[in-house]
Amino acid sequence: TAPPERLTDTRMDQPEIDALRQLLNNQGRRLRFPDLLEQEFQQDYIRRYHSHMRVSGFLGVLAILACGLLDPFWMPEQAGALWQLRILTAIPVLGILAICNTSIAKAHMQPIIALCACLFMACVVGLSLRSAIPFNYFYAASISIVMLAVFVLTRLQFIWGCLTAAIMLVIINTGYAVIGKVDPRMLITVNFIALSSALFSLVGTFLIERSLRQNYLQARLLAFENHDLGEANLRLQYLTAIDGLTRIANRRSLDMSLITEWQRAMRKQEPLGVVMIDVDHFKLFNDTYGHLAGDECLRGVAGALQGFARRPGDLAARYGGEEFVLVLTNANPQQARTVAERVRDGILSLSIPNHRSSHGNVTISLGVASIIPSTQMSGPEVLLLAADQALYRAKQSGRNRVVVDGEPEHVSQGAA
Ligand code: GH3
Ligand code: MG
Ligand code: MG
Repeated sequence: TAPPERLTDTRMDQPEIDALRQLLNNQGRRLRFPDLLEQEFQQDYIRRYHSHMRVSGFLGVLAILACGLLDPFWMPEQAGALWQLRILTAIPVLGILAICNTSIAKAHMQPIIALCACLFMACVVGLSLRSAIPFNYFYAASISIVMLAVFVLTRLQFIWGCLTAAIMLVIINTGYAVIGKVDPRMLITVNFIALSSALFSLVGTFLIERSLRQNYLQARLLAFENHDLGEANLRLQYLTAIDGLTRIANRRSLDMSLITEWQRAMRKQEPLGVVMIDVDHFKLFNDTYGHLAGDECLRGVAGALQGFARRPGDLAARYGGEEFVLVLTNANPQQARTVAERVRDGILSLSIPNHRSSHGNVTISLGVASIIPSTQMSGPEVLLLAADQALYRAKQSGRNRVVVDGEPEHVSQGAA
């Protein structure tokens, strides 16, 4: 029953908690944490969204291929060339997605998404340039669909989003102006669509990332608070079960343990033993050496007593004042007496001086009882009562001795 760690410590994680709170309050428009926290955030981000990012990639491929199903009906002449483009995009994207689970790929998910997004954009530009009128306009307009899908669905972070949008604009202008040499009005329209979609999408990306970062900070704070709550619980459990002075089980734990052991002994039809212990002439001890020395003596007795609760289920507890109880599982009267004699010896050999006692040292009297519980008995209080009566007889017959319930007093070795 050692006290839980940090029972008395001040909060060691307080500086980190303060730092998290401050970040949460001041995060504002910054999308970056201090280095160490940022690293952990990125790792958490990958853990959370890795499969999300992969699924988005597969959906992109599916969309590109599915749209091609109509090509043979709408543009039979161009369909072959368009399918070439779709396949040329799908193969590298699927290849990248296939190696996405490797640790290197996981560490570089953002640039990988950016790369796939640019491939999709190049594909749409290519499809638009190679389609027959008026389908080329539809493909040009789907530039905005690609952007929205990439920026809102894939969990691409804002900074990578900006870079991706810039590369996409280069791809679009290279495609339409340099390769396609399209009409300037078409070029202006396409740029207008691309720029406005990029702008709206990036605002969305920014807002999503900011709230994800705030959620992350809140989750970390919550984890700290849960941890503190757990510790407070542990501390409370400890305080309600342990005697403050002697740090062994208190009366409450004794009562609970007696009920449990009584039931167990009844089920197994085994004897349950208790030893009730009272320090002899303790009032005189206090009067002679003072209350502080009295407390120290009780701690010594309790510590020694705890060494005798050896089996699982055994318990040494402070019953109150200078009285203690030892619960002995599966111990018949004879076995309980043997333990009680050892306890008496053990306390005597602590050699705590008490010159008011006839022994010159602190001694104890012990009352022993052992019963095989049955349903006719009211409960473990029967056992305590029997041990208490035996203890009374031990006191009456001269102290520093063991008396077993139901047996005649016999003078212990070395008893006065
Ligand atoms: P006996 O041999 O018959 O048991 O005599 P006794 O003096 O031990 O018994 P009594 O019940 O007269 O006195 C018990 C004393 O124990 C009185 C009380 O002041 C002291 N005591 C009870 N609890 C504490 C404690 O927590 N600390 C100290 N120092 N003394 C305590
Ligand atoms: Mg007493
Ligand atoms: Mg006493």
